[in-house]
Amino acid sequence: MTSPHLSERALQEAAESLALLPATQTAHLRGCHQCQDQVATYQHLFVATTRLPQPAFTFDLTASVLAQLPRPRPAFPWVLCWVAVPVVGVVGAFLALFGGTLVQVFQDMATLLGGGLLVIVGFLMAGQCVELLAQYRRQMRLLSFS
Ligand SMILES: [Zn+2]
Repeated sequence: MTSPHLSERALQEAAESLALLPATQTAHLRGCHQCQDQVATYQHLFVATTRLPQPAFTFDLTASVLAQLPRPRPAFPWVLCWVAVPVVGVVGAFLALFGGTLVQVFQDMATLLGGGLLVIVGFLMAGQCVELLAQYRRQMRLLSFS
């Protein structure tokens, strides 16, 4: 037996499985009673550790960890404002330039066009609400600790 004794790490790996050790260390372990005794001690320790009861705290561990996490701030939708302001400007300019013509057109087909616009706006609003709800559910799913 010329190889040195196994390191603590190698002894612990051998206690878990001999397949984790290189061949030279496995050969040493077969011939060295001191290392075999230490591996047996680690195996007893590992078994005893698995039999320990789950730790019980006198405080709510989840609540204390959650209290230390940074709170997400509701972000103001600046991107939406950057998009909405030019769109409102373009629509306003369009109405200022062609408003008189549009009033004439809308008076001719007021009921049909108005109804169609209301239906389209309703679909857009419903779509936005569904998307917001789906986003909220995704975020809540990320926060669940089950
Ligand atoms: Zn040894």
